Amino acid sequence: MIIVMQKGASKRDIENIEKEIENFGYKVHPIYGTERTVIGAIGDERGKARLQALETSPGVENVIPILKPYKLAGKELRKEKTQIEVVPGVIFGGKKIQVIAGPCSVESLDQICETAEAIKKSGATILRGGAYKPRTSPYSFQGLEKEGLEMLLEAKKRTGLPIDTEVMKESVVNLVSEYADIIQIGTRNMQNFDLLKAVGMSDKPVLLKRGLANSIKEWLMSAEYIMAQGNLNVILCERGIRTFETSTRNTLDLSAVSVLKKETHLPVVVDPSHATGHWDYIEDMSLAAIAAGADGLMIEVHPNPHEAWSDGSQSLTPPKFDSLMKKAKKVAEAIGREI
Ligand code: PEP
Ligand code: MN
Repeated sequence: MIIVMQKGASKRDIENIEKEIENFGYKVHPIYGTERTVIGAIGDERGKARLQALETSPGVENVIPILKPYKLAGKELRKEKTQIEVVPGVIFGGKKIQVIAGPCSVESLDQICETAEAIKKSGATILRGGAYKPRTSPYSFQGLEKEGLEMLLEAKKRTGLPIDTEVMKESVVNLVSEYADIIQIGTRNMQNFDLLKAVGMSDKPVLLKRGLANSIKEWLMSAEYIMAQGNLNVILCERGIRTFETSTRNTLDLSAVSVLKKETHLPVVVDPSHATGHWDYIEDMSLAAIAAGADGLMIEVHPNPHEAWSDGSQSLTPPKFDSLMKKAKKVAEAIGREI
């Protein structure tokens, strides 16, 4: 429910309403506007009637239901775009398009540091690298785990680039949060609700990838799980979905960027690497994603893709990444953004 306060409602009226909402067992999400205050009451749908009755309380103009099932992720309660500051100066959802780049997996200190130096030179703002790897086969490389996190941290120390890395299970959420500046939830875990709740309790921004066979609505409901725990800093990442098409690893759903712009205030990132699975499609899809209005890109870069321990076929070499970034700059400028 949204409790809309009257224009001149006093501080006391507002506080009283907030207390009432809490007494009903709801979470309070106030938005203090210049004109008026709007208070979101989020919680169990069964108590709606009690909230509706607040309409007669002093200072209240009206009480309106939130129609969409994603109450916090949707635009009814919050209309303006959310800006997520990962580290000072690195903001998702602003004019600048943030580029997350790096290898699929952290393989060695040299590999991650060499990649970090290269992507930074080309203008990337965040380093990615998997330490816990969700692999289709149990016989494939599973990640260096804590050792990988240590390597990421060293690369961060050397370059100043903040870190994005995936967490796959609840038991290591705290550990990963100590190292990561952005916690990534992979496509295979988009509906692992206990994991979503666990990262919802972390104070780190969460990059939530779209499930490989999930609708946009289901994806936003997963964002809602995280936000309902108090972590409102969710970045959505379109990474391709399963279709009948086999020419690409997945099908990049670029129209999701447009749909999300209408449905949510959360920033949206596009990952053409996992979407297409081929290095030679990455540039075209990156430029298209920027033109479509994405707030960021996630691109796999490896100093020697032929020797990569995972996803080499979709990884760009540093020179190819550099040339992509030069073109990306021009597209961003053409639509009034920067990179
Ligand atoms: C990744 O980004 O390393 C990854 C495994 O991606 P996805 O979850 O989209 O497959
Ligand atoms: Mn990968």
